[in-house]
Amino acid sequence: MPTRRLYYDDAFLREFTAEALRCEPARHGDAAAWRVVLDQTAFYPDSGGQPADTGLLGEARVLEVADAGDEVVHLLDRPVPLGPVRGQIDWPCRFDHMQQHTGQHLLSAVFLERYSLPTVSFHLGGEVSTIDLRGQEPTEAVVEETERAANVIIFESRPVRVRYGTAEELDKLGVRKKVEREGKLRALEIEGVDLQPCGGTHVAGTGQIGLLLLRRVAKIRQDWRVEFVCGERARRAARGDFRLLQHAAAALSCGPEEIGAAIDRAQQERDAHFRTARALSERLSEAEARLLAEDTQPGADGLRIISRVSPGASADYLGLLATALAKHDKTIALLASDGLLVYAQHESAAKDMNQLLRDTLQALGGKGGGQRNFARGHLSDPGHSEQAVTFARERCS
Ligand SMILES: [Zn+2]
Repeated sequence: MPTRRLYYDDAFLREFTAEALRCEPARHGDAAAWRVVLDQTAFYPDSGGQPADTGLLGEARVLEVADAGDEVVHLLDRPVPLGPVRGQIDWPCRFDHMQQHTGQHLLSAVFLERYSLPTVSFHLGGEVSTIDLRGQEPTEAVVEETERAANVIIFESRPVRVRYGTAEELDKLGVRKKVEREGKLRALEIEGVDLQPCGGTHVAGTGQIGLLLLRRVAKIRQDWRVEFVCGERARRAARGDFRLLQHAAAALSCGPEEIGAAIDRAQQERDAHFRTARALSERLSEAEARLLAEDTQPGADGLRIISRVSPGASADYLGLLATALAKHDKTIALLASDGLLVYAQHESAAKDMNQLLRDTLQALGGKGGGQRNFARGHLSDPGHSEQAVTFARERCS
């Protein structure tokens, strides 16, 4: 026997009495659960992008609600006796779904009407909801204008009604999506905006959507996924945004409205500091290289081998120092810092730094490579830095 769906005619029904017709043991994940069918229900099953209601049936918690043909099946955490039972839906949760769902009808209608962007799918999520649009990319201007126009309709508080009729009758009324189904169909009408076949639950007037905010737009395969929030979610999102802005403003020591300018300034300063630090590092590495070269006596073969472990030196600085050292005749630099290795030589030293690095890494473990005069890599164990330069030095002499 088909379950009578009370939410079809009264989406604002929060409590109801029904007859429990069947109650069978089932599973909910790892836990025991019971499948219950009633003669009538106000619980909305998961369908059409709108999630199922939760709430209470007698003493039992309603965990899931699903369509099973003509029946609505309630999954409960405990059994209920057959016979009369009282149902109570989680109203704040359901009203939130109604706000998001009605907001979706409105939003899809505005995107279609103004920009010929049809909605190809809808998802009502825990935090944000999304519609997927097909067609041209909705630019920032399109997004802003759609948001503005949708909110104008919300402020006008237009009636939202359920209409019944055959496919032919609805077609005459200008239904947006044609349905090839026999019998009486259900459609949702937002006065002067939208008429669309739908079996979901909706608010009674656009004013109850409260506010509609568009958030991110992302390309998903061939479509454009637009995130939106309505009602209490919009308030929460705006409050969250402001909290973030305040946090950013405090970090930048400015007011929230000055954040843009403060970020530009901070980026310019960062870039200037970076250039200064780079120039200083280059000068420092040249000076250090000169001192090291002067302090190191060439061996019997005329080669000057400079091997050093400099804990804390950055990869950039190590590279600069090795390059500066390798500008000196017959000089080889074998440098390490926290597992990082840089080997470099002046052309006249005539060894193979790439091969030397590979031999070191083969012996001690690690990855890297380079050219004949310059190679870099890193050890798997940074504790082997000292061993690495000693190993390389022995092979150069
Ligand atoms: Zn709907």
